Amino acid sequence: MHIPFNKPFIPWLSFRFMIRGALSGTIAGNGRYTKKCHTFFEKRFGFAKVLMTTSCSDALEMTALLCRIEPGDEVIMPSFTFMSTANAFLLRGAKVVFADTLPDVPNIDPAAIEQLITPKTKAIVVVHYSGLACDMDRIMDIARRHGVFVVEDAAHAIDSYHRGRPLGSIGHFGTFSFHETKNIISGEGGLLMVNDREFEKRAEIIWEKGTNRASFFRGEVDKYGWVDIGSSYLPSDSVAAFLFTQIVRFDRIQSSRKKVWWNYYGLLKQLEQKGYLKCPVVPDFATVNGNIFYITVHSGETRDNLIAFLKTHGIHALFHYLPLHSSPYFIDKHDGRELPNTDRFSATILRLPFYNALRKSQVKFIVDRINEFYSSKSPSTDKYLSPVS
Ligand SMILES: *Cc1c(COP(=O)(O)O)cnc(C)c1O
Repeated sequence: MHIPFNKPFIPWLSFRFMIRGALSGTIAGNGRYTKKCHTFFEKRFGFAKVLMTTSCSDALEMTALLCRIEPGDEVIMPSFTFMSTANAFLLRGAKVVFADTLPDVPNIDPAAIEQLITPKTKAIVVVHYSGLACDMDRIMDIARRHGVFVVEDAAHAIDSYHRGRPLGSIGHFGTFSFHETKNIISGEGGLLMVNDREFEKRAEIIWEKGTNRASFFRGEVDKYGWVDIGSSYLPSDSVAAFLFTQIVRFDRIQSSRKKVWWNYYGLLKQLEQKGYLKCPVVPDFATVNGNIFYITVHSGETRDNLIAFLKTHGIHALFHYLPLHSSPYFIDKHDGRELPNTDRFSATILRLPFYNALRKSQVKFIVDRINEFYSSKSPSTDKYLSPVS
């Protein structure tokens, strides 16, 4: 048996749309399929304005431009995230200030944000890890009181909600990723959500190399020119055509992924009761969107041994983020604060295989192997029996 970590869902329809798009004569950005994708996201989730990008990293870079981040501005974000969250702001000269996560959920701790706010703080970036919502009521309240921007890195969080509101629609800006490891995919790809109409026009300008080309095509100006800084953040329409297939299949994709998530949860809860490991904690304001399934184990050593054990059974499990604050690039720029929850999650999170087509029997096989790992009475595994704190 070989169970990979991820198996991208690529139906034949993807190629039909890509070919149809190409035969129509336009494959550059902002074509027919890009518009179809935009319409879907605006209608389905009620986002005020969306723009497809070549990646979530690019969408994050656009948010840094939209917040007018300048050298010396401080941006607070979790250390337990992908480097793109930080890169986007470092590229504008920001000082990135890393906050610790909560003890039970690997999401940014609002109390830590509050402590790190200074007069130089310009933005707070939150990451809804594995699609589980951050505490947006508290975070938006802090942002309002201090007059700072909130950017939601919702790379994991499509079709997930905070008290009924779609993630990515709550802060000033939100970003999705369509990288092949996310819920819906286009290989590389992303989406920017602009939730405040005030920034809509500038977002379009930044998206198209600093030009007012979008206004020109709507007939609002009679020539288009260079009016601001920007870049080429829009993807080819072929990428949008590929993504559109995923949109056509959206409900089916989401229902299979949520099923996989709850299958894991149901079976692993039993191992949690034995004290072997911990399942994700779903806050009462959050929802599950079937992005990834992770467990937390007792120690880093247990995690690495469990990954190795599963590998001997053909199961490909993975660790997740190395803390950014102690990464080779950042360690000498960090202010030295300890981020214990970040370090603990980084050492002990294990991500299990997760994809649309993962069958219930395979999930059971994986959980049985985990159970076997813990219940083996060999002296080398005895120490893993201690309860997870
Ligand atoms: C995947 C991911 C990104 C980057 O997405 P790309 O589309 O690959 O640029 C950013 N932030 C988080 C939290 C991610 O998981």
